[in-house]
Amino acid sequence: MSKTKRFFLSEDDIPRQWYNIQADMVNKPMPPLHPGTKEPLKPEDLYPIFAEELSRQELNQTDRWIDIPEEVREMYKYYRSTPLVRAYGLEKALDTPAHIYFKNESVSPVGSHKLNSALAQAYYCKKEGVTNVTTETGAGQWGTALSYAAKVFGLEAAVYQVKISYEQKPYRRSIMQTFGAQVTASPSMSTRAGKDILTKNPNYQGSLGTAISEAIELARTTPNCKYTLGSVLSHVTLHQTIIGLEAEKQMEMAGEYPDIIIGCFGGGSNFGGISFPFMRHTILEGRQTRYVAAEPASCPKLTRGKFHYDFGDEAGYTPLLPMFTLGHNFAPANIHAGGLRYHGAGVIVSQLLKDGLMEAVDIQQLESFEAGCLFAKAEGIIPAPESCHAIAAAVSEAKRCKEKGEEKVILFNLSGHGLIDMTAYDQYLAGNLTNFELTDADIQHNLDEIQNL
Ligand SMILES: *Cc1c(COP(=O)(O)O)cnc(C)c1O
Repeated sequence: MSKTKRFFLSEDDIPRQWYNIQADMVNKPMPPLHPGTKEPLKPEDLYPIFAEELSRQELNQTDRWIDIPEEVREMYKYYRSTPLVRAYGLEKALDTPAHIYFKNESVSPVGSHKLNSALAQAYYCKKEGVTNVTTETGAGQWGTALSYAAKVFGLEAAVYQVKISYEQKPYRRSIMQTFGAQVTASPSMSTRAGKDILTKNPNYQGSLGTAISEAIELARTTPNCKYTLGSVLSHVTLHQTIIGLEAEKQMEMAGEYPDIIIGCFGGGSNFGGISFPFMRHTILEGRQTRYVAAEPASCPKLTRGKFHYDFGDEAGYTPLLPMFTLGHNFAPANIHAGGLRYHGAGVIVSQLLKDGLMEAVDIQQLESFEAGCLFAKAEGIIPAPESCHAIAAAVSEAKRCKEKGEEKVILFNLSGHGLIDMTAYDQYLAGNLTNFELTDADIQHNLDEIQNL
């Protein structure tokens, strides 16, 4: 019998609703707090910064299913369903009895899963009469996705790109500009937040936290301009559940069900996106599945951070969020997986980790690229440096299956391709990349600062 390599859904079978795991969680995430009054936030409190519908989705703990607007679903058809792929090549390279599957989000027009939420966010902004959107971007993936989505729905986009990425990844900037966005390296002199940081440290290479502060400041000071975020927030992860909902149907076509589900972890949106639809069977029916978040060892909020209220950005403009965090002043090393360099985890995944529904592993930079190169040779796809972390975690699970002779079913999310990250691969292949060891003191110092928040 011939073996199926890739599983697709017909356009008609693309899901019509996103899955809101908050409705099914036994312990709901604790509320975001106003930093001054420490009062729980209501959706209205978020309206000045975010589109109203997104603000409502953010705090919605009751509706299990949220309709995907028809206009967004029409745009999903440009690249969805994404293929579920059986990684025969990788299985063979590892000589493992495990069955390895990956969901290939790299086939989106912008090369990553980020477009799933960008389209939804741009749509709601347009519908509410917004004309301009702004955001930050690290590796450039989110900025690229938002720039395209803004163009689709007729909005102007202004993107603050973390300076180190702006310099390391000039092609991402070109792509954003090709879609018509205005791109600024962050920290910049165009905002008070940027000026403050540059005054203290003129050579600062930037971080997601700083870029967030700049974008929020622009949104607050510009009429008809809303801020958008590509990760961390609950409404972003909600939109990403399209990944897991498709995968659920596609695994059924393959006649299997995953024992282990893996996603790389920046703020949690692609991990939650692939995991949550399956996790509902764990919560509601007690189905035994392991959910593994793979984070970089240089930014280990899940494995070495603390569950505490903290700011989402460096300048302290955001509400206080109950999250696993390394402290909002934590400055991660300049690893190539720019999309994973963020100090905190979203409130849903943070609660799930606290409740033992999921686990986390940390992956060193060299191990991630080693796994990425193995995958590239075996499957012919160059993975994004971020996605390499998920691959590394999948490889180590598959090796464990080999040692124990277990035929487990492993599913991981390939969050993006790395075709615009070849500088990173060049450096890895030339032997110029290093691992980063964080001491407990490095971590404790930043955690002490949030003790009284
Ligand atoms: C942004 C990004 C990530 C990390 O963000 P999450 O919200 O944790 O998913 C991972 N992979 C790629 C390719 C990205 O662009």
